[in-house]
Amino acid sequence: MTNVELSVKATMKKAKMLRANPQTVSNTLFDLIVIGGGVTGSATARDAALRGLSVLLLEKDDFASGTSSRSSKLIHRGLRYLETYQFKLVAESLRERERAIKLAPHLTEVRPFLYLLYNGYPEPKWLLNLGLTFYDVASGEWLKRRHKMLNPKKVLELEPHLNAQGLKGAGMYYDVFTDDARFTLDNAKGAAEAGAVLMNHAEVTGLILENGKARGVTVRDSLTGEEFEAHGHQILNATGPWTDRTRSFEHTKSTHELRPTKGVHIVVKKRDFPLNTAVFLRSPDDNRVVWPTPSLEEDVVYIGTTDTDYTGDPDDVRPDESDVTYLLNVANHTIPEAKLDESHIVGSWAGLRPLVAPAPGTTTSNTSREHEISVGPTGLLTISGGKLTSSRLMAKQFVNAAEEALGRKKTKGGAATTALPGSRVSELPHISWACARAGVPDVVAKAWIRRYGSNAAKLLEIWKANPASRREFGVRGLSVAEIEYLVAEEMVGRLDDLMVRRTGIFFWDDDGGLEHIDEITNVLGDLLRWDPQRREQEMATYRDLVEKHRPAHKE
Ligand code: FAD
Repeated sequence: MTNVELSVKATMKKAKMLRANPQTVSNTLFDLIVIGGGVTGSATARDAALRGLSVLLLEKDDFASGTSSRSSKLIHRGLRYLETYQFKLVAESLRERERAIKLAPHLTEVRPFLYLLYNGYPEPKWLLNLGLTFYDVASGEWLKRRHKMLNPKKVLELEPHLNAQGLKGAGMYYDVFTDDARFTLDNAKGAAEAGAVLMNHAEVTGLILENGKARGVTVRDSLTGEEFEAHGHQILNATGPWTDRTRSFEHTKSTHELRPTKGVHIVVKKRDFPLNTAVFLRSPDDNRVVWPTPSLEEDVVYIGTTDTDYTGDPDDVRPDESDVTYLLNVANHTIPEAKLDESHIVGSWAGLRPLVAPAPGTTTSNTSREHEISVGPTGLLTISGGKLTSSRLMAKQFVNAAEEALGRKKTKGGAATTALPGSRVSELPHISWACARAGVPDVVAKAWIRRYGSNAAKLLEIWKANPASRREFGVRGLSVAEIEYLVAEEMVGRLDDLMVRRTGIFFWDDDGGLEHIDEITNVLGDLLRWDPQRREQEMATYRDLVEKHRPAHKE
């Protein structure tokens, strides 16, 4: 066996992320039960498990199915917060961004951003320069990736298709791009590796009270319809936009309500919207900042985001016509020759910012992004607000609060220094080489590495062991080997778990992979032993989801 193969084998020792059995869950008394498998809940479960606490993480749909797969996909240093002088948020974002690069190098990519300045913008060039200098110094980037101020000529050399009219120049700085869903999933995987017990498609339907204190939850397994109980010393609510609904299980009106705002992104092909660098600019409609961003997927650009109040059901949040029109306007202002209309949109998503409600009279864009931990009358601990960028810090503070509530001495655990699964990037050249040697097509190997980092070695093992797993579907590098891996190790229980969060095909592919959906469903259905009716149901649900997120499909 070669050294390469040995090092590939060495990545395969850790525990798998397996869906817990309701009976085992019911028979266990946990230290903590975390409700909600977004990035906050997943990072919380990981932090707690690494401290040696016994943890149960329950997610009603799928990990990252809420806001955590529908963000702008940036681990950012909070440039917008400087505008509103929220220095604490800026400092926190800077620290956490650097830590995320260390903990998840396979899912973080430092790339340039162009902060464009046009006539009529409120910020003068000198102020932008000053702000970016502050960032460089505060983040230690001064020596590594210092910003540059560019004149219009230089900007247009870099991005020749940008609107030249009224362009005054740009500040070029660096930020970190990620895959939010995979970042959340690797947090959940990290929790499982540290010993946490996980269930997706397991909705908490109420609290079990003992002498007025929450000591457990009632759960509905949405894959089987089975109802069961789970018991724990401390219950943690990390349900993001669903926070107030979860708090209502305490049967008292909360004083810390959320004021969610909706953010929409649309996806277009790079060939229709030729942009290589992410840009920050203002909407011609209302002067809000919007950032068209080339995706890590290379052939597509996403444009977002809107920021509007939302009072509907968090389960029903979707892009609507006015969101799409607003973003198309921004796109056509950014690159007028693109002349984009609805037919160019290949995908979209909408998410809710779980913002803490501000004092009466505050406007949407001034609403605080900071997080808050509160305790309810039954002892339910709730975390609200926050962002992807600060999820590690939020998790740490949340588990600190839980330990305090349990009367335990605060422990450390190691979430700040334990890298996420798949993070051994020094192995990636070996894995690429081993893939090529085994005849894995380039598009497939690249997709594995981008999605799973050093865990790509596990997919290669499947590929080598089973010739039938080498079948490709012709969509974003998806093969039978990947589906087998995801069923065995990443708790895929439904078709959209696979298509949306695990592979991102839903977001980036022209028709969300519908062209191949029968074949894909059959492979998944065979592995999960679905009967023909279940296969039809899964396909119908997924088709509906794709159609609701692609305006051109509506007719
Ligand atoms: P969610 O991801 O929504 O997770 C909550 C989970 O709880 C859901 O999965 C839900 O299914 C589950 N749940 C609800 N009720 C129950 C129940 N009864 N039982 C079990 N489970 C339940 N942040 C950044 O740092 N960078 C960005 O670029 C960025 N861009 C953004 C762009 C937009 C448009 C939006 C909306 C947000 C953005 N954010 C960004 C913020 C960031 O995405 C969110 O703060 C973060 O994802 C919230 O994670 P969460 O875990 O708190 O909530």
